Amino acid sequence: MSSAFAAFSLDGRRALITGAGRGIGFAISQTLAAAGAEVTLCARSKSELDEAAAQIRAAGGKAEVLVADVTDVEAFADALSALPAFDVFVNNAGTNRPKPLQEVTPDDYDAVMGLNLRAAIFAAKAVAKGMLAAEKSGSIINISSQMGHVGAANRTLYCASKWAIEGFTKALAVELGPKGIRVNTICPTFIETPMTKPFFEDPAFKAQVLGKIKLGRLGQVEEVANAALYLASDASSLMTGSAMLLDGGWTAD
Ligand code: NAP
Repeated sequence: MSSAFAAFSLDGRRALITGAGRGIGFAISQTLAAAGAEVTLCARSKSELDEAAAQIRAAGGKAEVLVADVTDVEAFADALSALPAFDVFVNNAGTNRPKPLQEVTPDDYDAVMGLNLRAAIFAAKAVAKGMLAAEKSGSIINISSQMGHVGAANRTLYCASKWAIEGFTKALAVELGPKGIRVNTICPTFIETPMTKPFFEDPAFKAQVLGKIKLGRLGQVEEVANAALYLASDASSLMTGSAMLLDGGWTAD
């Protein structure tokens, strides 16, 4: 790697990515591995993780698999306590149940807030515990959304969870900054992934979304992965408590 890009190297760094079996998490895992990180891919589906890790190894990267449900916060913390500390954590596992508030049930609340907020907070706690014990500097990247900065129809729960992650990120950055651990969010607009595929089967919804994205197109997972590489690496060494908006201009007006 030429000196101009040395700050982006992740050689010798250990990175944990949740929700790494597909979509944004898998793309981030591929990019961090290509930059030299030893990546640990976490999700619930072992077969999907094994396939994802095999693809990374075939491309010359180092990848391991951690089969875990991050909503089981005690089991996840126990699993991490048996592993060496990580330098980079991408807190990516998330979900959405879009519907008007009058149709939202307590089960919807538990599913969306339980994964996007409760599990994300306790996963960050478990990873930071290892970083602190090893006296490592580190980078925690919470995958938020443009919906952590605006509101939108049918997204009361999702917006609540992502606005909360923005607040959590700022507070944790204040707490961990003196220890050399940085905490930031990435806030993508609509990205083409298995999670959003069913939404875009509705042409009216797709037209409405494209009308808000000033660049006139959906985002690609690689564009989120590039931002994750920046935040994971020393290239972003002065950045903490911040949000990287990758929204194609959605929030510009
Ligand atoms: P996705 O395609 O649905 O993939 C979700 C990943 O999370 C899968 O690997 C899934 O694997 C894993 N996962 C789900 N529940 C889990 C659990 N309880 N424990 C561990 N892993 C779990 O999602 P995505 O679209 O890539 O979204 C990833 C993140 O980006 C989310 O936080 C989402 O809110 C955010 N985001 C997405 C978009 C977008 O347009 N796609 C835009 C802005 C922000 P298993 O089911 O095997 O566990």
